[in-house]
Amino acid sequence: MENAVESNLATNLLRELPDGIHVALCGAGSPLPDARRSGPCTAVIAGERLYIVDAGAGSSRVLARMRVPQGAIDGILLTHFHSDHIDGLGELLLQRWVNGSATSPAPVYGPPGVETIVDGFGIAYGPDTRYRVAHHGEQVVPPAGAGGEARPFALPVDGEAELIVDEDGLKITVFRVNHAPVEPAVGYRFDYKGRSVLLSGDTTKSANLQKFAEGVDLLVHEALAPQLVAIISRGARAADRENLAKITVDILDYHTTPVEAAEVARDSHAKHLLFNHIVPPLPPPPLEDVFLEGVSDVYGGPVTIGRDGTLVELKAGTDSIEVSELL
Ligand SMILES: [Zn+2]
Ligand SMILES: [Zn+2]
Repeated sequence: MENAVESNLATNLLRELPDGIHVALCGAGSPLPDARRSGPCTAVIAGERLYIVDAGAGSSRVLARMRVPQGAIDGILLTHFHSDHIDGLGELLLQRWVNGSATSPAPVYGPPGVETIVDGFGIAYGPDTRYRVAHHGEQVVPPAGAGGEARPFALPVDGEAELIVDEDGLKITVFRVNHAPVEPAVGYRFDYKGRSVLLSGDTTKSANLQKFAEGVDLLVHEALAPQLVAIISRGARAADRENLAKITVDILDYHTTPVEAAEVARDSHAKHLLFNHIVPPLPPPPLEDVFLEGVSDVYGGPVTIGRDGTLVELKAGTDSIEVSELL
């Protein structure tokens, strides 16, 4: 145990990565529990910068298991305010504060409404913040660094993208997606040293997203497999779980199928398609083939089904795209 603790604490994923953009899935799942996929969370490391997109349940723990130092988080970006995308935010903000002895709160970017989310977590964590300062001292946990600070941006209209971060060669732009009746809902694009990544957030197949995905190296797209969700609906009805049966029918109309995501990848000339926000939960490989049914008929590029710990490396100055698993 001594050896394991020492080597875990002494290593840091960020120091091991070459220059470029790295995407690490700190949560590849959805609200439905999946042993290999926590709530939605994507870490994007661009050069020296570390951003976390969405903070579903388990985000902070998966980041820790991947050896991503949470004290180094430069900002958190929310795609929308569905609970599964924010229910790990309190823990993530706490870990950033304590691990990094942060002296200023974490910037939390989001469309209008993000202020309420950040303030709410601040209120809920108020007593805990006081206990930790009293117990560990202001040197270790500077009171000014606790929690988050909302950075709302105006929701771009369709056809336009807004630049929200421009630092050290990294540009983050935001664009609108369609997750109705959930409003607002956005996706993000990261550009750094000629490499690019686009994250869909939760959306139906979106022409607006496709426009901004043009030529992207890595398209990270949500996907729901309707033929597999239908099995859950039938099972729920047979078990007299009527509300689960209704919910599993309702969710079909505000997500994208794997084949539709593949069409977006094809039509935007994306070089690699990574599925995340996988619905429903997938047991190991055999069912993954069912999830991918029809995908290779429409998209000829490489496809990866994400799980917690999936790492995609886009080295600066190359056109390589390498996929590995950290967990
Ligand atoms: Zn979601
Ligand atoms: Zn959602």
